[in-house]
Amino acid sequence: MLQLYVPLNFLGVMYRELKQSLVDVDKMFNLLHSAPDVLDAPDANELHVAHGRIEFKHVHFSYNPNRQILHDVSFVVEPNTTTAIVGKSGAGKSTLSRLLFRFYDIDAGDVLIDGQSIAKVTQTSLRRAIGIVPQDTVLFNDSLGYNIQYGRPDANATEVRAAASAAHLDDFLSRLPEGLDTAVGERGLKISGGEKQRVAIARTLLKNTPILIFDEATSALDSHAEKAIQSAFDDAARNRTTLIVAHRLSTIIHADQILVMEAGRIIERGTHAQLLAQNGSYAAMWAAQQEERTIEAVA
Ligand code: ATP
Repeated sequence: MLQLYVPLNFLGVMYRELKQSLVDVDKMFNLLHSAPDVLDAPDANELHVAHGRIEFKHVHFSYNPNRQILHDVSFVVEPNTTTAIVGKSGAGKSTLSRLLFRFYDIDAGDVLIDGQSIAKVTQTSLRRAIGIVPQDTVLFNDSLGYNIQYGRPDANATEVRAAASAAHLDDFLSRLPEGLDTAVGERGLKISGGEKQRVAIARTLLKNTPILIFDEATSALDSHAEKAIQSAFDDAARNRTTLIVAHRLSTIIHADQILVMEAGRIIERGTHAQLLAQNGSYAAMWAAQQEERTIEAVA
């Protein structure tokens, strides 16, 4: 009976949650990604972020018991710096960002923010401190302004406008007769992947979190869209602790630290210049991407 009770109870909870929050994408995201056993510790405290220092300490992790995904991963992201994670598809890059958000609990080691283990703080306070710009942003069938304001529902119109500007959306908005009131989504204006990501940046800027995760879109963007996202993101990253899951190395050459992952391990780390000088995996990836760009430019 107990074997049935647990999944049925979870389904019941899930149904109630879904019903309550059909328009609440953050909650849906949490629900879909977090296993039911990610629970607040009985004595969980609120997370206090004074500086925003992130530390992964000997982290071991597997989604399923028969396949280990991360092997002894350790790194520090110092406050107000940017760390980029690069590596082949499946290397474990996005897993690191999911673990920082505590969508899953780790098997061994610790993940700390300003010295506080994220397993020992409330999930609400943890997620309040972190803004995510996902690879593919879901837009509601509503106005652009609404979609940005979703980052902080009590923000006023001036703050929404400022967030849009900070995300370098002014040019785009000036071409729309209805500006921020333009309807988007399935039933509205179809906007490009690059514009969508800037809407997500504006939304996250409005949430104004000390920690920012940016999951770069894998799909190819034209160089104009890429530059617009890049400058929006660089501005957003200022004065925040930032983690970028990067696919295009050209976007992260100024990162304070680059971690190169392969099969769940960090195999190289350093700045762009240091990694090029090492002449290892990163240097090979860089050379391959430069060659691709040259071919694209000639074609
Ligand atoms: P990409 O560049 O393609 O986004 P990545 O480096 O971000 O890849 P992850 O998404 O972190 O890779 O995945 C690391 C490994 O974990 C992969 O082998 C993947 O198949 C596996 N994995 C990811 N999510 C799950 C899941 N929910 N359940 C089981 N295995 C998973």
